[in-house]
Amino acid sequence: MEIRSVCVYCGSSDHVPAAYLDAARAMGRAIARRGWRLVYGGGSTGLMGALADAALEAGGEVIGVLPDHFYTPQLAHTGLTRLEVVPDMHTRKARMAELADAFVALPGGFGTWEELFEILTWAQIGLHRKPVALLNFRGFYDQLLAFVDFALGQGFLYTEHRNLLLEAATPEAVLQALEAFEHPGGIAKWLRRPPDARRA
Ligand code: AMP
Repeated sequence: MEIRSVCVYCGSSDHVPAAYLDAARAMGRAIARRGWRLVYGGGSTGLMGALADAALEAGGEVIGVLPDHFYTPQLAHTGLTRLEVVPDMHTRKARMAELADAFVALPGGFGTWEELFEILTWAQIGLHRKPVALLNFRGFYDQLLAFVDFALGQGFLYTEHRNLLLEAATPEAVLQALEAFEHPGGIAKWLRRPPDARRA
């Protein structure tokens, strides 16, 4: 599927080394340079704000989707192409997923990981066939990836599902991995029961 719109999940904290903010800016510029639309959580802080500002400065289209409890002057980005304010977090994540053809997680905390694993789980159970990638900037996600592979080795993940999580160390390589992704097909085939079993 051709990618026109990418959803980025990333940290909202301002208290991180400047290199992470630079990585978010590089991602924002890379997305805008490709002519892709950026969809993100609509915040103005941390990597989220840096990402959106850089994409806008590079002439990109940026859509933020913010739950109304975050719609405050301190947290909301007011200079976006469009800001959608939604009633709650579940509506937000569903809307971000609907607006995007691909997903990327940059360095972040619980919120970022939760969004990443939700969209990956949706791929695992066959709810969508869109690519999902991690920006493993300066090895930020090495330990998470090691844990994922440990869980794979222990049989908690299937190899086909492990392979749904793409990874690369630079924004450009992440975007190339999204473009190169070919859905393996049949991911959720064990969910389909034979017609007789369905009738029983
Ligand atoms: P975290 O990684 O815990 O900083 O959470 C960042 C992710 O959660 C983002 O991708 C957002 O969708 C959401 N989020 C958390 N905090 C905020 C905030 N202050 N403003 C907007 N979105 C936030």
